[in-house]
Amino acid sequence: MHWGMRRHSRLTFMPKRAAIASPNPVNCQKAHIMPTPLFDTENPVLVTGATGYVAGWVIKGLLDAGLTVHATVRDPGDSAKLAHLEKMATDSPGTIRYFKADLLQSGAFDDAMAGCRVVLHTASPFTTSVADPQRDLVDPAVGGTRNVLASANRTDSVGRVVVTSSCAAIYGDSADCGAAPGGVLTEEVWNTSASLTHNPYSYSKTMAERAAWEMAEEQDRWQLVTVNPSLVLGPGLARTQTSESFNIIRQMANGLMRTGAPNIEFGTVDVRDVADAHVRAAYVPDAQGRNIVNAETNALLDLAAMINDAYPALRVPHNTLPKWMVWMVGPFLSRDLSRRFIERNVDHDWRADNSKGIRELGISYRPIKTAVAEMVSQMGESGQIRGL
Ligand code: NAP
Repeated sequence: MHWGMRRHSRLTFMPKRAAIASPNPVNCQKAHIMPTPLFDTENPVLVTGATGYVAGWVIKGLLDAGLTVHATVRDPGDSAKLAHLEKMATDSPGTIRYFKADLLQSGAFDDAMAGCRVVLHTASPFTTSVADPQRDLVDPAVGGTRNVLASANRTDSVGRVVVTSSCAAIYGDSADCGAAPGGVLTEEVWNTSASLTHNPYSYSKTMAERAAWEMAEEQDRWQLVTVNPSLVLGPGLARTQTSESFNIIRQMANGLMRTGAPNIEFGTVDVRDVADAHVRAAYVPDAQGRNIVNAETNALLDLAAMINDAYPALRVPHNTLPKWMVWMVGPFLSRDLSRRFIERNVDHDWRADNSKGIRELGISYRPIKTAVAEMVSQMGESGQIRGL
């Protein structure tokens, strides 16, 4: 069993066109890349939410493999937001085509999906600061997933759909790990503790993944595979990033918790390994089911130490705040630090079993320390970190 606590040697996988597309398994073995793919890679592949942090690296992998990517975006006219995708396409053997699609607009993904064998559905809001969780999180996550899968039902060419779910669909609070069999989260576990009022982002991801499995079971043409990453870290490809991943590291590097950090553990994974997992979920023939994608368990203080090692001048926390103190002041400091959240997340162990993805998809993991340092460096270069 792998709990993701140990660092694994770096896999050299970067899909090359010949290896992915080759019908000859010998070539694939020589390249140490992947088994013969299920789908012929001459067909275009759809990626929803192409402007996103995770999607950027997924698209890079697909373009480097020489594929034609149908990229859905909300505003194809926003050239600044697409600049990194344009550059990636120019620098790779692949091709990118943009399609306008909003998650909430019925049928919006039909044109983009036409002719695709593989659909990678990454689009979903990832933020914790919302005014109305139903409108801002659940409706786009669940309604968007239903909308994309309804297009798959209408598109005969589609044979596999990869949905970017999350470990948030597996657990809501760290206390849920303790309640899981053996104290370890696996693909068998579902988040039953999140709601519209408690961890609403996690609730949106849980409801969206449940909807995806329901729709997958109602038909038998396309297979569903889900990728369930923990907190994704590492550099972004776009100039500006909306993903909550950046807020967490930015706030810590800017001294938000300099007096001390609550002892909260969670899973962490490098964005490039998450992208690799998506490509594998799309093209490894026997990929199936849910797949936890998690490299290491880290506490907030571990992330602070990683920042400190790379940038000692930054005012990151060096000590843990006792739970009673967090309990007293937390709710006054942040809306996210409710008493229920503190009770169920501070001083709880977080453990997840990542062995299914390693075994079935061939995922391996980079160390998180590098991802954190690169992320801080990148945000420093764009003036987002004071003192860098
Ligand atoms: P992100 O950079 O904010 O990307 C979210 C993407 O969703 C953006 O492309 C965004 O488009 C799109 N989107 C949001 N609302 C939309 C709507 N109504 N219609 C069409 N597109 C919409 O966040 P991310 O971190 O890359 O997240 C990508 C996926 O990974 C999400 O499904 C998220 O739940 C999942 N995930 C992320 C993490 C993590 O730690 N980052 C961990 C586990 C799972 P715009 O650019 O137009 O806003």
